[in-house]
Amino acid sequence: MFKILNLITSFLISILTLFNTIELPQDEEIDDNNKIVINEVIDVEEKGTEEINPEEVVVPSTSGNWWEYPSDIVACSRDGNDLLVLVNKKYQLPSTYKPNDLVKASNSGIRRGENYYLRSIIIDDLRDLVDASKSDDIDLSVVSAYRSYATQESTYNYWISYYNNCISCTDKVSARAGHSQHQLGTTLDFSSNEIGDSLGSQFGNTEASRWLVENAYLYGFVIGYPQGYESTTGYSYESWHYRYIGKSNALEQKSSGMILETYLRSKN
Ligand SMILES: [Zn+2]
Repeated sequence: MFKILNLITSFLISILTLFNTIELPQDEEIDDNNKIVINEVIDVEEKGTEEINPEEVVVPSTSGNWWEYPSDIVACSRDGNDLLVLVNKKYQLPSTYKPNDLVKASNSGIRRGENYYLRSIIIDDLRDLVDASKSDDIDLSVVSAYRSYATQESTYNYWISYYNNCISCTDKVSARAGHSQHQLGTTLDFSSNEIGDSLGSQFGNTEASRWLVENAYLYGFVIGYPQGYESTTGYSYESWHYRYIGKSNALEQKSSGMILETYLRSKN
């Protein structure tokens, strides 16, 4: 009897192992604006899986090579732990920078948070944001958060390969390692059940996105790459990407009329 049970158990374990080694297929879809949106699940160190940002093949046409990196890339002027550190195409975080207080995003009560990590100092405000959204009948989920330097390197290389080595195509939509706000542990990509927790431009048409535009700053969260500012930020519009800078800073940023990028430049 025990021998039979043991055989059944080993068989089940082999099947499960087989499933775990099968690579998940790339999830590709065309949204309303005929933009190709891609989600890919990749392994992230010891932290489980994480979805790569979806990117748009169609990018806004603005004058100048706004996606290009400058020739004079320098180290960030503030420490990585500083909520106001400017990280962009000019200012780079050290490859060794990793926040030492990462916790599961699920501590805030946000849906899908068990798969992603954020700094513990932003959890209370994120919980307040999620609670407030719920009381307004808005659903929010998280679809990406902390990304290490190494993960960002793989993410960028994925897009280089996707675009057949077109560097300018990739630089419009994905940061090179050390240049991503996701390495800070204070940045997350939102989604909603309105779009089946997918990640991409379709988020901009949701009630959840409209709610965040109105309310996120009250909890310290600011959109990173707003529409129409590609030549300032160096990135295509990302309706889903928010960075936490603290409530008082977010209020000051909002009152200043500056976008996050310009506000942080004024502080660095
Ligand atoms: Zn993002």
